[in-house]
Amino acid sequence: MARVRDNSNPDQPVINLENVCMQYERTESPALDKVSLRVEPGEFVFVVGDSGSGKSTLIKILLREEKATSGRVFVNGINVSKIRHGKIPRYRRNIGVVFQDFRLLKDRNVYENVAFAQRVISTPAGQIKKNVPSVLSLVGLAQKYKSKPSNLSGGEQQRVAVARALVNKPRLLLCDEPTGNLDPKTTWEIMYLLEEINNSGTTVLVVTHNREIVNAMQKRVVTMKKGVIVSDQRKGGYLDEDY
Ligand code: ADP
Ligand code: MG
Repeated sequence: MARVRDNSNPDQPVINLENVCMQYERTESPALDKVSLRVEPGEFVFVVGDSGSGKSTLIKILLREEKATSGRVFVNGINVSKIRHGKIPRYRRNIGVVFQDFRLLKDRNVYENVAFAQRVISTPAGQIKKNVPSVLSLVGLAQKYKSKPSNLSGGEQQRVAVARALVNKPRLLLCDEPTGNLDPKTTWEIMYLLEEINNSGTTVLVVTHNREIVNAMQKRVVTMKKGVIVSDQRKGGYLDEDY
């Protein structure tokens, strides 16, 4: 698959936040308070923390869905706060995103849901015909390409979402509570899939509440509390200390 051409620099950290603050309007305390975080190419990072601690805001800032109030945000060497409004869709093509609620197009089949992500960036039809089956077999759904999302299990729907996130070959995959709606067995399957994707070179950041998974997988764990990173462990489990 041809990599989408972009201005990013492969030698830079994939994520580099410097003293990032995010203050939503009409709120008292900041959602992010001087957050600094560096993620190198090929890392797998869990972000954990109580509800309201700023995890989704962190993801929104990386996607430029929100603009940091202060501090600097770099993704693949690109200064995210400086991207002009009209260039934001193009910037987002270099990031794959997966959400808790799948966000598939309900009236389109599996193939179309994935192909759509390629059409919006004007991938040639011949490429799409090769790329979609290839990414669907990566997530184990090659046989179900004609199914509508409503005929798939939650785990299968999330696999489609992962395929869609990956089809444009992003360097970074962001997942916001990707297993929040899934049963334990399916949760493990999705986590193993994310690990496999990481093993093949994609940098992966996963927001989760799942202690068992975080403890078992022994990856880097960033813990947030009230907009602050209170712990950043290279390799470890869910913090049980009373932060
Ligand atoms: P988490 O994902 O860890 O649950 P969020 O990033 O969603 O946390 O929220 C962090 C804080 O920012 C919370 O106090 C939340 O209420 C607030 N917040 C999130 N989004 C908005 C918004 N659009 N407007 C105002 N406040 C928001
Ligand atoms: Mg959240």
